[in-house]
Amino acid sequence: MSLLDRIAEQVRECMRCRLSATRTQAVPGVGPADAPIMFIGEGPGRDEDLQGEPFVGKAGQALTILLRNAGLSRDEVFITNIVKCRPPDNRDPQPDEVEACREYLDGQIACIRPRLICTLGRPALQTLVDPTASVMKLNGTVIERHGLSYVPLIHPAAGLHNENMQEPIKEGFRRLGEVLARYR
Ligand code: URA
Ligand code: SF4
Repeated sequence: MSLLDRIAEQVRECMRCRLSATRTQAVPGVGPADAPIMFIGEGPGRDEDLQGEPFVGKAGQALTILLRNAGLSRDEVFITNIVKCRPPDNRDPQPDEVEACREYLDGQIACIRPRLICTLGRPALQTLVDPTASVMKLNGTVIERHGLSYVPLIHPAAGLHNENMQEPIKEGFRRLGEVLARYR
């Protein structure tokens, strides 16, 4: 079994934080072990908690289309979240939950060694890049941190309830498409 599979197995059995008590199942992540690009969201929602896969609900459908617009297909990227278990009522993950789960994400990044890490939404950006960073300001730009290259993006779910967010979301993924032309 690969190290990446072993991490997924540990995640499925993990009881390190309180989110283990309310989940249906943990959602380790999905994608090839040698994916050149990782997408990291906030945490599983209801559909993800039920199916055990990240980004399979409405936000996931939006992500699939945005990926395609950036010239990517879902099955060539690795998709996961900063916390692997669903926060009740989709509340933000709490700092101690993010901290407890961090080792799994760091392990996944170390195994996959992606050329680019795209953060989806504020919690992923602030956890991985800079606790004070603004998603709106950095949307679709490249940031080098700790020897890794990040592209912060607005979370696709932000466009589901707010029409005004749809253009900036698309713009971020359009910029990502340009970045990819340089990184591939
Ligand atoms: N939103 C996220 O941040 N992650 C998912 O897996 C689904 C929706
Ligand atoms: Fe473990 Fe992470 Fe799930 Fe918490 S969110 S129980 S740390 S896998």
